[in-house]
Amino acid sequence: MTLPASQVSEHTSGRSKPHAVVIGSGFGGLAAAIRLGARGYQVTVLERLDAPGGRAYVHKIDGFTFDAGPTIITAPFLLDDLWGLCGRSFSEEIDIRLMDPFYRIRFDDGKVFDYNGDADAVKAQIAKFSPRDVAGYDRFMEHSQAIFKIGFEQLGHVPFNSWTDMLKIVPDMITLGSHRSVYAMVSKYIKDPYIRQVLSFHPLLIGGNPFSVTSIYTLISFLERKWGVHSAIGGTGALVKGMVSLIEGQGGTIRYGAEVEQILVKDGTATGVRLKSGEAIAAPVVVSNADAAWTYRYLLPTEHRSHWTDQKIDRAQYSNGLFVWYFGTKRQYPEVAHHTILLGPRYKGLLDDIFKNKRLAKDFSLYLHRPTATDPGLAPEGCDTFYVLAPVPHLKGDIDWEKQAEPYRARIAKYLSETVLPGLEDEIVASLVTTPRDFQDRLLSYNGAGFSLEPILLQSAWFRPHNASEEVNGLYLVGAGTHPGAGVPGVLSSARVLDTVVPDASTYA
Ligand SMILES: Cc1cc2nc3c(=O)[nH]c(=O)nc-3n(C[C@H](O)[C@H](O)[C@H](O)COP(=O)(O)OP(=O)(O)OC[C@H]3O[C@@H](n4cnc5c(N)ncnc54)[C@H](O)[C@@H]3O)c2cc1C
Repeated sequence: MTLPASQVSEHTSGRSKPHAVVIGSGFGGLAAAIRLGARGYQVTVLERLDAPGGRAYVHKIDGFTFDAGPTIITAPFLLDDLWGLCGRSFSEEIDIRLMDPFYRIRFDDGKVFDYNGDADAVKAQIAKFSPRDVAGYDRFMEHSQAIFKIGFEQLGHVPFNSWTDMLKIVPDMITLGSHRSVYAMVSKYIKDPYIRQVLSFHPLLIGGNPFSVTSIYTLISFLERKWGVHSAIGGTGALVKGMVSLIEGQGGTIRYGAEVEQILVKDGTATGVRLKSGEAIAAPVVVSNADAAWTYRYLLPTEHRSHWTDQKIDRAQYSNGLFVWYFGTKRQYPEVAHHTILLGPRYKGLLDDIFKNKRLAKDFSLYLHRPTATDPGLAPEGCDTFYVLAPVPHLKGDIDWEKQAEPYRARIAKYLSETVLPGLEDEIVASLVTTPRDFQDRLLSYNGAGFSLEPILLQSAWFRPHNASEEVNGLYLVGAGTHPGAGVPGVLSSARVLDTVVPDASTYA
């Protein structure tokens, strides 16, 4: 489609640098904007919401500050890089703190496992449950390190544009046993069912079922040990705010309330975007940080798609949905760690209900976030800020969230009250619930999935939507649904791939 001169927005004219448009201001979109800005592009980020961050949006309610999504910050060097590209210092501008424990894991019978990056401390915890698994843990971590060296260091930021790129890594993948699931890999080294859960739940943090995602994701164990698990003072929102200030410092622009309706294409090449308002914005480089499935299904007309057809998008497997309840309490719970994982009575059975049967089970496993453990400034004095998250089926499950949300929230509140937050129901003074419906309607996430496409082997690397679109030239993808995948380190790495696949700005000068 050609743009009539009268419709071309002022944002496209009168600049000497070539224009790059980024659709969406999630971590992936912000990082892409910074990288393109550093390479000489004039960048405009278009965000449909009223503030940046996407899944890392910040809700402020009655003096409580709630980070909507990511809270576990790993691989901080990826953020450091972005500040460095702008000639600024991450450590001088952002205060991140190492967590200890990384997570407190509480089993349904009340047993507790404190997990951190200190090998001896973890082994002492394992010994409490299962002394015979201590040696297995060392061997598991060696394996995790080997996978990390290939999966993260060598492949995390390279584009998988062609089938031959994929073929090159097959021998390594076979050697590392990538065909196995995370749970199967952990079970090879560990016998105790409690410890198997402790070492295998990580894929849930990026939307994968430990019983089906490739064991490549066991690299997270080593990643966490090497760089630690951190939280930012001011919350994850402080990182988002910092990235926005980098973009603005480069002379880039972020427009809010700007929803892209269509990616414009001429002769097989992206030429810009059209907003819902009708405004057209021209750019030789278009980067979509919108959900990858949504980008192809709704933003790129069918006549420009031969690979990601509607049928293929529909048949793909999506990550789980998320039920998240943000709440503030009028008292503090100082004995509750910053990150607590409350594992329910069933492990595989619950995961089957979420990922396969797609039904809302009576039981749940929860992640409880208490950021005020690290930064009391996120709540009014004497109060605590929390969120609790339950993995649930995405919207292909037949769950009426209008009806189910409140009883489900109440069940979770009761469980928390009976376990780690005594008297909770009487202490709540702020409350907000989000369900997979909100992920679909607010974030435009296909099927309301929490983390886009599920990271199974046949939806990873070359099999995932490519960072340089396989459909049209000049279109690039960053974020959870493209390579390497979800999670803050994943989406920051997807933006790093752009350095390889987006041409130099001089190409368009
Ligand atoms: C509750 C929760 C907890 C999590 N916890 C962690 C954690 O602790 N650690 C971790 O590493 N990861 C975590 N994750 C995962 C991580 O947050 C995500 O994988 C990552 O933030 C996704 O970033 P993204 O770049 O894909 O963009 P998103 O955050 O998905 O943002 C995409 C943006 O695009 C905008 N957009 C979409 N369509 C359009 C359009 N047509 N026009 C304009 N704008 C559009 C959306 O409004 C949104 O702002 C969590 C996720 C959730 C939901």
